[in-house]
Amino acid sequence: MTTQKKFDIAIIGGGMVGASLALLLAQQKPDWKIALLEAQPFIDIDQTQFEKSFDARSTAIAHGSVEILRELGVWGKLSQHATAISQVHVSDAGHLMGGLINSDTYDLDAVGYVIPNAWIGRVLLESLQQQNAIHYFAPVRVEKLTPQKEGAQLTVKCGDEIFNLDCKLAVVADGGDSPLRKALGIDSHVKHYDQTALIANVAYSEPHKGIAYERFTAQGPLALLPLGESSSATESALVLTLPTNEANDIFALNDADFLQHLQQRFGTRLGKFLLVSQRHIYELKLITASEQIRSRIVLIGNAAHFLHPVAGQGFNLSLRDCVCLVSSLIHGDTAGKILGELSVLQDYLQRQQLDQGLTIEFSDKLVRLFSSSSLPLIALRHLGFVGLDVLPAVKTQFAQQTMGTAGAKFL
Ligand SMILES: Cc1cc2nc3c(=O)[nH]c(=O)nc-3n(C[C@H](O)[C@H](O)[C@H](O)COP(=O)(O)OP(=O)(O)OC[C@H]3O[C@@H](n4cnc5c(N)ncnc54)[C@H](O)[C@@H]3O)c2cc1C
Repeated sequence: MTTQKKFDIAIIGGGMVGASLALLLAQQKPDWKIALLEAQPFIDIDQTQFEKSFDARSTAIAHGSVEILRELGVWGKLSQHATAISQVHVSDAGHLMGGLINSDTYDLDAVGYVIPNAWIGRVLLESLQQQNAIHYFAPVRVEKLTPQKEGAQLTVKCGDEIFNLDCKLAVVADGGDSPLRKALGIDSHVKHYDQTALIANVAYSEPHKGIAYERFTAQGPLALLPLGESSSATESALVLTLPTNEANDIFALNDADFLQHLQQRFGTRLGKFLLVSQRHIYELKLITASEQIRSRIVLIGNAAHFLHPVAGQGFNLSLRDCVCLVSSLIHGDTAGKILGELSVLQDYLQRQQLDQGLTIEFSDKLVRLFSSSSLPLIALRHLGFVGLDVLPAVKTQFAQQTMGTAGAKFL
């Protein structure tokens, strides 16, 4: 544990977004001193076994995010654990439709990649440990964030001890529930979907051929993201969306009954479902903070916007937010502005507003339209599918959003 208590930037929360932002800052502006504070103990890289785990959660990384991770210098290692998505196949129960987004059409190696979260965490942590500019504190809990004239002060609890940490800019990356957002008196808009996501890994009899599936049914959408080292692998990460009042019953099914339920909802495109890992459930909602910036304070990641996971946009959007934030901070610094002053943060938000707006709307509309059992909406979504098939502009927007290139900005 370092004893240094004055920093240029303090990031509260060392999840995937806080850790990525710390790395990006250290790489782009190594003379800024950065504190990363995390409530959970950091994993011991040497002790942790990352063998092929059958119950790890995975994240779909869009093509645009790969470019960011490459810039961060972590893609080389991450790619060793990534499964390429060659095609995203979107379908609606009761409506026939073929592959929608194909990497060949866009002259890309892959539309995106699927990586187990455990590997993302491990690779980010390895890189963090190599950065002199980053001091990480874990496990510690930031109890209080007090805005000051020239920055912010954090009250940090470490075991039985409490210490203060001063910074010029505080980045709140403490997750969707964000206790600090609440303590700052920042409201959030919460839209309940009355849906619960059930997450598991599944194995089946036919090779996935690198295809990610998004299937929409009246009970809610389901996604199957390909896993494994080659396109002949027969495993996927499942995100099964269920009406909340049915979720506990389906969660409690024995494996055989659960696989039968899945088979019924997904069909036989992957042959017969054979195995399911340990299952986890998450309540789904859309949370957007009513303010993302104040003088010397910025909210990022799930603390700023928490999206439905079915479209795989949350982490991808946050990575683009991080790139834009760092770019605004550096431009502000070059122009002689104070780190974290409101005009600099306003510049960030203004530049990233379109991307955030489009991505949040895309995820929200997709879920609402495709989860409905009302007849006019079913008709509308079938028309939507026709549109996706035959209208290049609609299809391009869908593809850009999925590949993470809609409204994206790079340094
Ligand atoms: C089921 C599911 C599937 C998903 N799939 C995808 C996908 O395929 N693609 C995609 O782009 N996105 C996906 N997402 C979204 C993605 O997981 C999130 O966008 C991302 O994890 C957000 O990370 P975060 O760092 O903002 O928040 P979190 O991961 O919640 O991290 C917050 C961190 O802050 C720490 N913390 C909290 N309070 C304090 C405190 N007071 N002091 C110190 N530390 C604190 C916590 O311990 C935690 O580590 C998915 C989400 C879910 C739920």
